[in-house]
Amino acid sequence: MTHRVPTDRLLVATHNPGKVREYWEILAALPLELTYLDPEGITLEVEETADTFAGNAVLKATTYARLSGLLTWADDSGLEVDALGGVPGVFSARYAGPGAGDADRYRKLLDALAGVPWERRTARFRCVVALATPAGEVHTAEGACEGIIAFGPAGDNGFGYDPVFYFPERGLTMAQLSAEVKNQISHRARAALAAAQILREMVGGPMNTINTIRE
Ligand code: IMP
Repeated sequence: MTHRVPTDRLLVATHNPGKVREYWEILAALPLELTYLDPEGITLEVEETADTFAGNAVLKATTYARLSGLLTWADDSGLEVDALGGVPGVFSARYAGPGAGDADRYRKLLDALAGVPWERRTARFRCVVALATPAGEVHTAEGACEGIIAFGPAGDNGFGYDPVFYFPERGLTMAQLSAEVKNQISHRARAALAAAQILREMVGGPMNTINTIRE
């Protein structure tokens, strides 16, 4: 159940203007002005202490909504590898410890999967978007993107685990896809599209002009 929220501004809980731009493309049809943490002068860092993506997204959305007095959008995402029981999961960004880079993390993953055959290297990127009002109403939306952890890295685009995440539908790793294609099929895009539908019910706006994701 969603309630109409009297607001025309949406706080995207990130320091990254690139992420705001990506989300703006999905939300452009809604009567909302998007802002993010830095222009609002918000420096508080919310620690991601929950053990699920949804828990962390809700924690961030509710904290920043209370702090800012704005309708707030927050996400959490990561990679789940089946042969490792879902690891690195919510620890995706911290998998190789403090100070490590993207390549350290995906090399650690490749080492952990040494000897695991192709058919058992299944994995998925997951993203949960949480929407929270300052009054404490919260909604979540999920998106996933299924793939296989490759035997080695390929491609220079994207970030994080993209070079080792093989996307069977395109026959390429995420890092070999253009940003445009990735933004149409990614876990983040899928979660954002579902969250945009919830947001439309909360603030009004035309459903049929919300961008859709190409399969
Ligand atoms: P966050 O949700 O921005 O905190 O991302 C968590 C971590 O998950 C990132 O630091 C990456 O390691 C990984 N991750 C999330 N989304 C992607 C993606 O689209 N490609 C590659 N890695 C990702």
